[in-house]
Amino acid sequence: MRFHILTVLLLSFNIIAAQDNYPQDAFQSPLEIPLILAGTFGELRSDHFHSGIDIKTQQREGLPVLAVADGTVVRIQVSHWGYGKVIYVAHPNGYTSVYGHLKKFGPELEEYVKKVQYSKQSYEVEMFPDYGELKVTKGSVIAYSGNTGGSAGPHLHFEIRSSVTERPTNPLLYGYEVRDATNPTVLGLFGYPLSEGALINQSAKTVQINFTKQPDGSLLADKVSALGTIGFGINSFDRQDLAANQNGVYSVKQTVNGRVYSEFDFETFSFAETRYINTLIDYPYFYKNRQRIQKCFKEPYNHLDIYKSLYNNGKIDVEEGMSYQVELLISDIEGNLTKLVIPVEGKQEMEKVAKEDDRTEDFILADKPNNFDLGAAKVYFPANTFYEDFYIDLKKGNDTITIHDNSVSAHRNFTISFDPSKYPLEDRKQLFIARLDDKNRPSYSKTYKRDGSFTTRTRSLGTYTLVKDSVAPTIRPKNFKEKQWLSNYSYLSLIINDDLSGVDTYSATLNGEWILMEYEPKTNTITYNFDDKILNTNECELKVTVTDNVGNSTTFTSTFFRK
Ligand SMILES: [Zn+2]
Repeated sequence: MRFHILTVLLLSFNIIAAQDNYPQDAFQSPLEIPLILAGTFGELRSDHFHSGIDIKTQQREGLPVLAVADGTVVRIQVSHWGYGKVIYVAHPNGYTSVYGHLKKFGPELEEYVKKVQYSKQSYEVEMFPDYGELKVTKGSVIAYSGNTGGSAGPHLHFEIRSSVTERPTNPLLYGYEVRDATNPTVLGLFGYPLSEGALINQSAKTVQINFTKQPDGSLLADKVSALGTIGFGINSFDRQDLAANQNGVYSVKQTVNGRVYSEFDFETFSFAETRYINTLIDYPYFYKNRQRIQKCFKEPYNHLDIYKSLYNNGKIDVEEGMSYQVELLISDIEGNLTKLVIPVEGKQEMEKVAKEDDRTEDFILADKPNNFDLGAAKVYFPANTFYEDFYIDLKKGNDTITIHDNSVSAHRNFTISFDPSKYPLEDRKQLFIARLDDKNRPSYSKTYKRDGSFTTRTRSLGTYTLVKDSVAPTIRPKNFKEKQWLSNYSYLSLIINDDLSGVDTYSATLNGEWILMEYEPKTNTITYNFDDKILNTNECELKVTVTDNVGNSTTFTSTFFRK
């Protein structure tokens, strides 16, 4: 018990020490409501760590978003995906605050952005205003919260980065108050036999290890017998006080007989390395179960710099006749700590579960380029596409090829080239490279057509084929009808769709003049705001053109009246 309290104190001390490096009173809250989080910094996401906090906005859009300190807007972006509408504000203290998934900008910025959108005739834009051109003061409304871009529900994505290195830092290190008295939850514990011949509980394969909660709140694993080099991994989450969201934990520390073997935390990380998350998690397990196990040992091809401390890369060499007390200390940023104790006995035992035989005809040497001819297509993996050498499972075909499956993560793009020569020339225009999912549903993979070859660059393994899209997109009005009076309307919206290859471009004019359509791919909606332009006639002709990814195009026209 005394030891437990001491560890808590030491851990809290670590977090306080981290906070010492960051200004505590410089930044106010970006919202006028209490901070309740739907996501924490460093949380494990698809191919990346979450680079900010997701603040819940009461299931609503349109809450005022405030500048957290005096500063100047250095970047604004509007995109269909990613952060959607986003503002970057640089502050004199060397930090940049970032506000994402916005519904709308504040009046001054909105005017600035619209001007650029109309001059470029594009909804998607990116701007880098001159330093001092767009100044903001602490607490002023710079935008309204929304759900734009890759967002699954209304919230504000908020980041604090270093203005110099652009490294994101944990926003909760800057004195923000988020109520949290709940210890992290551990869902699963896993043991990994790592060296040749290593066994855990007589298994050469990854094993799940049971644990039970002790009266003092700590967790105790069933006794583990092992031999050789082994490692551990956990599946865990943290919950704050005022919401049920399962957020990421702040730090994981592993000790063996009192010595720190590994410790990592989410004080900061770099965008350049964020994809190495696929080396921190057990990727094949994630592919199968959609749950992320964080390994407490560091793989040789893991280039993350989130580690505060490492001994033997977190791997434990278990010798016969020796016993080891392994402790995992899982903490949130408030210092709430969950301790998981794993007793390990070094024992020579019979192997009951052997490693899977994953041998195939083709072996990938990760640090060399690899070429394969699969009949319908050729595949080229540049050097270091993959993290480690492995047997790749390739299936040749006249129409369809299969490149392993997504249980392996590619770090870089590789190239797939189809030969379209067996298709009639007039068909080739409507063909595209499609990735087929488990249910054989095609999705468009950006297809470059040249020199009689169709090429795509991707990081997704799996099944690919050529698919023909001969159906043009559909366009239908959402909130108005032909020949309707729309004097009281503040906006026009339409539903656009393309079944197979997907929407590539869209554009619209009113009486021949280009108008801004805001596209929301999540709802297939394009929207025009009447504030944008003063119409000088009562009769208006709207013309909307949508083109899909192989060039099929549809034009919709409608007349309406407005005073
Ligand atoms: Zn976010």
